[in-house]
Amino acid sequence: MLIIVPEWAHHFDAFWQAIRKRNLWFIKLRYGAVPMLAAFLFAADKILGAAFSGTQVRAFIIITSSILIYNLLLHYFRRFLTCDPHKFNPLHLSLLQMGLDLTALMFLVYYTGGIESPLYMLFVFHMIIGSLILPGYLVYIFAGLVAAYFTLSVYLQCFGIMYHHSVNGLLSQPVYNNIHYVNAFVIVFVFVLFISVLLANKIAKQLYKMEQDLVESLELLKKNEKEKQRYVMGVVHEIKAPLAALHSILDLVIYRYVGPVSEKIEEKLKQAELRLKEAANLINDVLHISKLRLLEEISFEELDLNELLVETIFKYNNIIQKKEIDFQYINNEGYKILIRGDKTLLELAFSNLLNNAVKYVDENGIVQLKVDCLSSEVKISMFDNGIGIPAEDQEKIFKDFYRAPNVKKSYEGSGLGLSIVKQIIERHNGTIKVESPAAVDDKSNHGTRFHITIPLN
Ligand code: ADP
Repeated sequence: MLIIVPEWAHHFDAFWQAIRKRNLWFIKLRYGAVPMLAAFLFAADKILGAAFSGTQVRAFIIITSSILIYNLLLHYFRRFLTCDPHKFNPLHLSLLQMGLDLTALMFLVYYTGGIESPLYMLFVFHMIIGSLILPGYLVYIFAGLVAAYFTLSVYLQCFGIMYHHSVNGLLSQPVYNNIHYVNAFVIVFVFVLFISVLLANKIAKQLYKMEQDLVESLELLKKNEKEKQRYVMGVVHEIKAPLAALHSILDLVIYRYVGPVSEKIEEKLKQAELRLKEAANLINDVLHISKLRLLEEISFEELDLNELLVETIFKYNNIIQKKEIDFQYINNEGYKILIRGDKTLLELAFSNLLNNAVKYVDENGIVQLKVDCLSSEVKISMFDNGIGIPAEDQEKIFKDFYRAPNVKKSYEGSGLGLSIVKQIIERHNGTIKVESPAAVDDKSNHGTRFHITIPLN
């Protein structure tokens, strides 16, 4: 099989995607060209005042039907092609398309007057299209063949060796037998043909190269991002150990294992312990974010979402009771909800959402977790009638470290929780949206509702 793929394009997905797209685009364009050619045939006498002979009409019909037939075949067979440079691939299909189109055009031009036919311009158009897809040398070969055919055919007609099909009424005087006109026409035509190929080819090459450079830069960026995440993980991990040691030492003092402590000092030490806990939470969130960004693929396993949610809720029992929150879990499905996902990651996501809900409601507030199954996905809604999220901040809350102004001073947090949730849900091919205000029956608070969807097993 003739290998016509540029060396740099063998493993370049974007190249193959572009070729496939362009092939389809040309097939669609050809479906448009067929009725246009038919209209040209039937309206020629009305619009151009030209009349075709019987032979010309027959030739026109045969050529147009052939275009339609080979287009249908190309359209059907294109879907079976693989992007393997060593097999018949989309690039070979482009080559075939160009060959077929140029052959059809040669006949069309011949039967509509040769040098007198306005359709000769379509040769230039085809050369430009070919240059956008095929390697330069192939398009130059095509341009050479077209130039040779055109030159030979118009001179043979000029000297009366080949039959000339004039279109009656198109020109007041025939020009095909005027040698000076033929000479000038051929020189300009061949020049325009090759210049178009040269320019279009250069532009196409530059575009492909730029596209490739972009892909490479993107890959480099991703690599650097991973390096950065590894570095962050390393540093954060190192900070964890001294923080844990500090915590233990504080506990020893607070619980008076090292001697008596005044109430004032105890109060200060408890404040320090609280700050230490916040630092530990922040470190854990940063570690989660870095791990998620480093994770190439997550391990999907079959799991019961109902069980996962119940286990997660259980962890928040103490705080729910302490704040006397009116908590409801509504599983409209009844029992098991099977999905495919990473259990640890999903637990982390729902834990973060639940943590926010119980954190941002007042005492005696309402928190409701509801699950509904649709035909192909499961819908989860997490509602609380807490402080709500201002409209202008709702877009930003999923970004790293973003905290809305209404929570900053009064509630502790890192601003990383929702970023983690969004990444986890999206890696499970799900979606997450926020709605606030969301409280229906509570006038004093704004309330928040998170809508999550995850594909069913
Ligand atoms: P944080 O640690 O600050 O809670 P998150 O990333 O979990 O960080 O959330 C980002 C921000 O989104 C929060 O700081 C808060 O402004 C807002 N937010 C998230 N969940 C709620 C909620 N249930 N009610 C009100 N505001 C919320």
